[in-house]
Amino acid sequence: MTKDYYEILDIHRNASDAEIKKAYRKLALKYHPDRNPDDKEAEEKFREVSEAYQVLSDPQKRAQYDQYGRVFDEGFAGGGGGFNNDDFASTIFEEFFGDAFGDFFGGGAGRRAQKRPRRGSNIEMKVDVEFKEAAFGVKKTVDIPKVVKCHRCNGKGAEPGGVTTCSRCNGTGQFVRRQGLFQISTPCPECNGTGQFIKEKCKECHGEGSLRKNKKLEVKIPAGIESGMTLRVSGEGNDGSNGGPAGDLFVHVNVKEHEYFKRDGRDIVLELPVSFVDASLGTTVDVPTLDGSETIKIKPGSQPGDNIVLKGKGIADVQGYGIGNMRIVLKVILPTKLNKKQRALLEEFKENSDEETYKSHNSLWNKMKSFFASCLTV
Ligand SMILES: [Zn+2]
Ligand SMILES: [Zn+2]
Repeated sequence: MTKDYYEILDIHRNASDAEIKKAYRKLALKYHPDRNPDDKEAEEKFREVSEAYQVLSDPQKRAQYDQYGRVFDEGFAGGGGGFNNDDFASTIFEEFFGDAFGDFFGGGAGRRAQKRPRRGSNIEMKVDVEFKEAAFGVKKTVDIPKVVKCHRCNGKGAEPGGVTTCSRCNGTGQFVRRQGLFQISTPCPECNGTGQFIKEKCKECHGEGSLRKNKKLEVKIPAGIESGMTLRVSGEGNDGSNGGPAGDLFVHVNVKEHEYFKRDGRDIVLELPVSFVDASLGTTVDVPTLDGSETIKIKPGSQPGDNIVLKGKGIADVQGYGIGNMRIVLKVILPTKLNKKQRALLEEFKENSDEETYKSHNSLWNKMKSFFASCLTV
């Protein structure tokens, strides 16, 4: 069973963004590992709360969660949640509390020293897939504009050998002083808490420590994917800094409309035009299916809107609940123009008809006439 994010945050399903934020703030502070050292249960709660917040605070992910009960991972047949990155919960926390982080628990500025590993940010992108590709699944090569760590300087921004140690803090980046019972550490003002100076900037990244680079990646789009679903590819976001892990890649899928097929969950609907003569007399027709064609029989006396079902000719369910059907809906076409001969034939048809409908003053017509009359006299 998927976790209920609303239950985890203790909010109702129509909660506003402000209510979601408020709930997360309260619970994240309560369960933060700094407040609950060595408490496995609190740690787990902290992760759950972070995961719930990450999904519900994002309108697109929230909508997907509301509709499908989960945010999809690439190749999610295995059903593994993508939220198993060690740093993920604390990253969410830091993003939420911003610079105020650390002050909450009296951690002091040292916690925020620049050397702290930071997780890379996520990348979001959109991918268009054809109707058939969505039905059968497809591999798409995407070009991800990525921020990657510079390999020449290993993300440090300095030319190899181009670094000197800060003499004021001996390379620790911190000043520690005592104040009463407390030890207070502040970042070294000389080196801004980095512990070193860059004498010569890296030639490759000009001292940035990172580079923009496009990466081609093959993404497996599972059969049955629907427009608006999102795939998560772990670790394919931007590289982290100071040894932090990479972010994730989110691929938002847009399924293009088909000229003839419409989708209704796992079912495919095809509207089939049939002349009133074929509908009345019956016939056989070849109709296209997703993987070829099929000959179907239209029974004599078929009516507009009648369904012919081809079992198992629909689309695979993305969550593995099996394949749907193809539904052919008859659209009976009536003639708009008649030539003399046709007219005569239809007149003759009417004369020879036993069915009530074809008589000028049939019983249904009489019934309706008296209903209209009763409305008018009120
Ligand atoms: Zn570099
Ligand atoms: Zn220093």
